[in-house]
Amino acid sequence: MHRIIILLILNINSVGSVLNVLRIGIPSALFYYVYYPMWKTFLEELDVQVVTSGDTTRQLLNYGVREALADACVPVKVFFGHVMALIDQVDYLFIPRIVCLNKKTVYCPKFLGLPDMIRYGIANMPPIIDVRIDARDHKDKLFAAYYKVGKILGKTPRQITKALLKAKTSQYKFQKLLRSGLQPIEAIDNISTGKKQKPLDNKGELKFAVVGYPYIIHDQYISVGIINKLHKMNINVVTSDNISPFTLKLQRHGSSKRLFWTFSERTLRATRYFAGRKDIDGIIHLSAFGCGPDSILDRFIQLNNQSSTIPFMSLVIDEQSGEAGVTTRLEAFVDMVKRKKGAYRNA
Ligand code: SF4
Repeated sequence: MHRIIILLILNINSVGSVLNVLRIGIPSALFYYVYYPMWKTFLEELDVQVVTSGDTTRQLLNYGVREALADACVPVKVFFGHVMALIDQVDYLFIPRIVCLNKKTVYCPKFLGLPDMIRYGIANMPPIIDVRIDARDHKDKLFAAYYKVGKILGKTPRQITKALLKAKTSQYKFQKLLRSGLQPIEAIDNISTGKKQKPLDNKGELKFAVVGYPYIIHDQYISVGIINKLHKMNINVVTSDNISPFTLKLQRHGSSKRLFWTFSERTLRATRYFAGRKDIDGIIHLSAFGCGPDSILDRFIQLNNQSSTIPFMSLVIDEQSGEAGVTTRLEAFVDMVKRKKGAYRNA
């Protein structure tokens, strides 16, 4: 029986090599939490096998800390670690250079330089597909970028267009799931497995908004599992990612000028949106040590929401952040919010 199973496994592996399926790696970090469904669908429609690097672990972070520049932010170090986990497994790495998608704000310089940092920072890298996407160039820039990827993979314009349409549908489904209350990892799981996962029931007596960059909030390791910790404390949680892009676009953030950086601007608007809602009992801004944009963003958030009576806490996570320290701060914040609401009387 064992022999038959081993032979079957060998056959499955040899089918892959006979068919010579191209394997492209997408590191499970940074843009993964925002565009993975679209990228995965697009590449798979072009007959590519997509390989991801899985959850962040202490070992991955250690790889990243070793390979990245010492002054890089924690999420970039984590990204390096995820790349290290993929390099021996794939033919290409997919790291597009996304500059601007809305013609108004640009992504942080670390994103712009990411493909180069990886290419020149890590030895023996497979080729990187690093198409540049800048919506300010001309209106079809997004299509042009995906078209270029399809061409690298030797596909026809018809195949590329069809794959892109499917990819956009996948991304639309993802955003719909986020609006329904799922968080990115749950929504990705939902799309990948077809498993109909529902948002957790709102059983808690308090509701908190967690704001910040998706790759910080939803990376279980970087965020020290903050959302799960809050759920365990019986707190309902919504995040910036549950707000529709359209609502965010209309939301004013209280400053006369836009912030330069896309994710920072988005966080500022999301905080303002939650600060104006009556069902939110507390707001937590999660940021990463070493993040340049966050050093001004946190101050802007506080200045722009001075008139809000909703308790606010800023939590900066670094490579050494321990479970205990974060839990203690969360418990103290929850305690304070409960007292403010007079919930102790009814507990
Ligand atoms: S915005 Fe901050 S955390 Fe994000 S990549 Fe840039 S420096 Fe790093």
